[in-house]
Amino acid sequence: MAEKPVLLISACLLGQKVRYDGKGQILPAARLAALNAHYTLQAVCPECAGGLPVPRPPAEIVGGDGAAVWERVAQVFGNDGTEMSAAFLAGAEAALQLAKAADACGALLKSGSPSCGNTRIHDGRFTGGMVPGRGVTAEWLHRNGIAVWDDSQADGPCAIDKTISPAGSAAS
Ligand code: SF4
Repeated sequence: MAEKPVLLISACLLGQKVRYDGKGQILPAARLAALNAHYTLQAVCPECAGGLPVPRPPAEIVGGDGAAVWERVAQVFGNDGTEMSAAFLAGAEAALQLAKAADACGALLKSGSPSCGNTRIHDGRFTGGMVPGRGVTAEWLHRNGIAVWDDSQADGPCAIDKTISPAGSAAS
């Protein structure tokens, strides 16, 4: 039997308690079962990999999106005013290296996160507003040729109510 392809996945989507609030955000059981059936899941939490603790202040990108952080025209701040850009950049690079080392066929990340969001992120005002854009890690993986989805995307790997969509069939 052929080896299953490796899919990088946000650790919180597996229920790992790595979020800023010390909690996970596990995927629905049916989707998780389908993912496990079709992929070898390689967990990563970019913010932890970048050296941030659990719990930590909730963070948002101020002045743009993940692309703007890489271009050094926006920064990541915690809601306590702490500048966290360096940790976010380091975590994104760690996630990329992990994806490369595992020969990952793609990445399924957590929507809305300033690291992992692939379609929309918070607007930097800490009031719950969202704007289109990628987080710092999603942007870095995308720029480096890794197919990226977040869990809100209907065309993502093993999305609910869809037949299995192998990673690589629908780039972000
Ligand atoms: S950085 Fe990504 S994996 Fe880590 S808690 Fe945030 S959304 Fe989850």
